[in-house]
Amino acid sequence: MKIAMIGAGYVGLVSGACLADFGHTVVCIDRDPDKIASLNAGRMPIYEPGLDVLVAENVRQGRLAFRSTMREAVAEADAVFIAVGTPSRRGDGFADMSFVRAAAQEIAKSMSGFTVVVTKSTVPVGEGDEVERIIRETNPEAQFAVVSNPEFLREGAAIADFKRPDRIVVGTDEPRAEKVMREIYRPLSLNAAPIYLMGRRTAELTKYAANAFLAAKITFINEIADLCEEVGADVQAVARGIGLDNRIGSKFLHAGPGYGGSCFPKDTLALVKTAQDAGTPLRLVETVVAVNDQRKRAMARKVIKACGGSVRGKMIAVLGLTFKPETDDMRDAPSLAIVAGLQDAGAKVRAYDPEGMEQARPIMPTVELAENAYACAEGADAVVIVTEWNAFRALDLTRLRKSMSSSDSAPVLVDLRNIYDAKTAMEHGFTYEGVGRAVTKA
Ligand code: NAD
Repeated sequence: MKIAMIGAGYVGLVSGACLADFGHTVVCIDRDPDKIASLNAGRMPIYEPGLDVLVAENVRQGRLAFRSTMREAVAEADAVFIAVGTPSRRGDGFADMSFVRAAAQEIAKSMSGFTVVVTKSTVPVGEGDEVERIIRETNPEAQFAVVSNPEFLREGAAIADFKRPDRIVVGTDEPRAEKVMREIYRPLSLNAAPIYLMGRRTAELTKYAANAFLAAKITFINEIADLCEEVGADVQAVARGIGLDNRIGSKFLHAGPGYGGSCFPKDTLALVKTAQDAGTPLRLVETVVAVNDQRKRAMARKVIKACGGSVRGKMIAVLGLTFKPETDDMRDAPSLAIVAGLQDAGAKVRAYDPEGMEQARPIMPTVELAENAYACAEGADAVVIVTEWNAFRALDLTRLRKSMSSSDSAPVLVDLRNIYDAKTAMEHGFTYEGVGRAVTKA
C-alpha cells in the first residue's frame, strides 16, 4: 500500500515508521521544514526509544521518506492518514480542529483516484463528517472515504504499542475503505491484534472514552492517596490490594502528582465540552478534570510543607521534568505547575531531566538546569522526584545527601512517584515524604 502520513510528530512519525516497517511505502509530510530537514539528515526531532534505528532502516530500504509538501505523495496514496495536533483551543478548552481542517483542505486538492482519508488524530465526535464535507466542497470530483482510526500508543513505548496493539479501532461503514484498512493492518493480524470495526462516530468517541477512563483511574488512586496520608494507610498496598482483582486491574493505579502529557488533559477537557454541548454532561469526567488541575499545584504546597512551611530563599532540586519517563514531551507536564508553585513561594529551582532539557529550556527560563542528578542536588535543601526515570530509581543516596545543603535539619526527599521506601531514605539521613504514605523524619 502507498501511504501518506500528514504530520510527523509523536504519532505521525512513529505510525509512519512502523507502517513502513510492515512493508508499506510511506511518505511522512510535515509543514515544519526544520523537522523535515532534520529527519532527512537522520536526526530525530523527538526522543522515543528505538525510533532512530527504525527510521534509518526503513529509509535505507526505500520504504520511508520525508517531505514538506503533500501534493505528490497524496496523489499517489491509497490512504492518507491525518496525524496533526488537536490541542485545546485557547479560551474554551474545546479541541482545536484548525490543523485537521487545514490538512483536509490541502489533501482534497491533491487526491487522485479512490483515496481513503484516515483521521488518526484524536478528534471529537462528528469531525469525520466535517473532514468529509471539506474534501467534498474543495474537490467535488474526488472519490474518497473518510475513516476514523484513533491511535492508542503511549509515548515511551510507542513502537511496541503500535506493533502490538491491544486492538485496532476502525470506524467506517464503507466496504472499499474497510478493505484498504484491513490490508494496511494485515501484517498485525499475525500477532492476532483484533481489528474492531464500528461506525465512524463510535470510533471517535471510543478514543475519548478510553482516555477519560484512564484519567479517572489515576485520579481515583490519587484521591485515595490523600486519604491514606490522613488516616495512616499506605496507598501502594491499597492499589495492589484492589489491582489484583482482575475486574479492576493494576495498571494506572500509581499515585503521583496528577496526570499530564499531550493527551489526557486536553482529551478529558474536550470530552467534557462535547458532552455539555450534547446536553448530557459527564459529571464524573468534569470532576476528574477539576481534581487533577488542583492536584498539580497542591504538589508544590506538599513540598513547601515538607520543607517546614517555607521555601523562601531555599534551593529545591527537581528531578524529572517530562510528563513521564522515556519521552522528551513536556506538554502539560506536572513539573510545570510544581516548579511555578515553588518559585511563586520564593524558592530557587534547579532541575535535571535525562531527555527533556532541550524542550524545558525555553519554557522554564528561570530554572537553572543541571548536568545530572547529583549536580542538581548540590547545596539544595530538598530534592523532589517528579518523573520516575529509571536513572532516578537507584540513586546513590549517600552521595546525593552529601551533595545537599549541610544545614542542621535533615535534607528533604519528596518522592512524588513513590520509587523509594521511607526506611531506606531515612537510613541515609533524609526526611522522606512520598505520596499516600506516612511522612518519615530522619
Ligand atoms: P505533534 O504536535 O507531536 O505533531 C503534529 C505534527 O503535525 C507537527 O509536527 C506539525 O508540524 C504537523 N502539522 C500540523 N498541521 C499540518 C499540516 N497541515 N500539514 C502537515 N503537517 C502538519 O502531535 P502528536 O503528539 O503526534 O499528536 C497528533 C494527534 O495524535 C493528536 O490528535 C493527539 O491527540 C493524537 N495522539 C497522540 C498521542 C501521543 O502520545 N502523543 C497518542 C495517541 C493519539
